[in-house]
Amino acid sequence: MITIPIEDCNSFSQKTYNDYVFGLQPHMMKCKCGRCGGLIFYGRYKRHLKILGLFLSLIIQRVRCSFCGKTHALIPSLIVPYSQIPREDQQEILKLNEEGKSAKPVFDRNFQIDESHMRHIIRRYKRFWKERILSLGLSLNDRLTDVCLSVYSLQFMQIHRTWNSYFSSPT
Ligand SMILES: [Zn+2]
Repeated sequence: MITIPIEDCNSFSQKTYNDYVFGLQPHMMKCKCGRCGGLIFYGRYKRHLKILGLFLSLIIQRVRCSFCGKTHALIPSLIVPYSQIPREDQQEILKLNEEGKSAKPVFDRNFQIDESHMRHIIRRYKRFWKERILSLGLSLNDRLTDVCLSVYSLQFMQIHRTWNSYFSSPT
């Protein structure tokens, strides 16, 4: 997958996503095979997100590399791959937990998230991410998406090890 910089949950919609994605030139993105110039738009799929209390269905665009044949989903950076809960909410829950505070501010703005999600997020962080973040000298107060993608080829809090790279438009 290729992560594109759409960070803000407040203004996020299918239109925001489409406007960004279809303003891109996929041939300028780099494929996992290391080559540029081979990616073209290729198919879509639907996934579900819990954003600001809404259950949002998002149609995700894929690209395909004409050199190696692999396809990659174009994932906005506010998403944690394979999770319905935005990166921002997950990070906020973790931060509040480390400070010994309640996650109520996150539950209040995104009421589809509950205590069991919270426990799951904290468990995954401790098992997989905490050491990685500390070893980079970073904390939950930092902006983690770019650095996790560049060092680990994973979005922050992504567990499933599907290759993930960051694309920022050269404009
Ligand atoms: Zn390729």
